[in-house]
Amino acid sequence: MDNPHEYFMKFALREAKDAESRGEIPVGAVVVCNGRIIARAHNLTETLTDVTAHAEMQAITSAANVLGGKYLTDCTLYVTLEPCVMCAGALGWSQIGTVVYGAIDEKRGFGKFAPGALHPKTKVVAGILADECASLLSDFFKKRR
Ligand SMILES: [Zn+2]
Repeated sequence: MDNPHEYFMKFALREAKDAESRGEIPVGAVVVCNGRIIARAHNLTETLTDVTAHAEMQAITSAANVLGGKYLTDCTLYVTLEPCVMCAGALGWSQIGTVVYGAIDEKRGFGKFAPGALHPKTKVVAGILADECASLLSDFFKKRR
């Protein structure tokens, strides 16, 4: 296995592409526990007509269902875009072990607006396959214009 962060981010990217093919903004996420993917999710705001249906929210719910517990202390979330303030808050409640994200979100990212939203013990790794994650989004918005 090459860089494990890049390895799992590729699965999050696959989810993001899946979102795009359904007319959703291409953001994807996976949750990894003990080296295994236990949840895959992508943005569903259009499909569910729900502004809270971000990839991370779906991934948190799905991972908790799989584990049968609400805390994700031993899990790592991989997401193609920096979580927004809402998702960072939800990830904070989940007490997730690590958050790894791809592209930085200058406009909505939690880093700038709510750096304290995550649980104090949560580790953050930024910028994994960032170019690929970002170009998926910029291409999507270019096509929509
Ligand atoms: Zn979000």
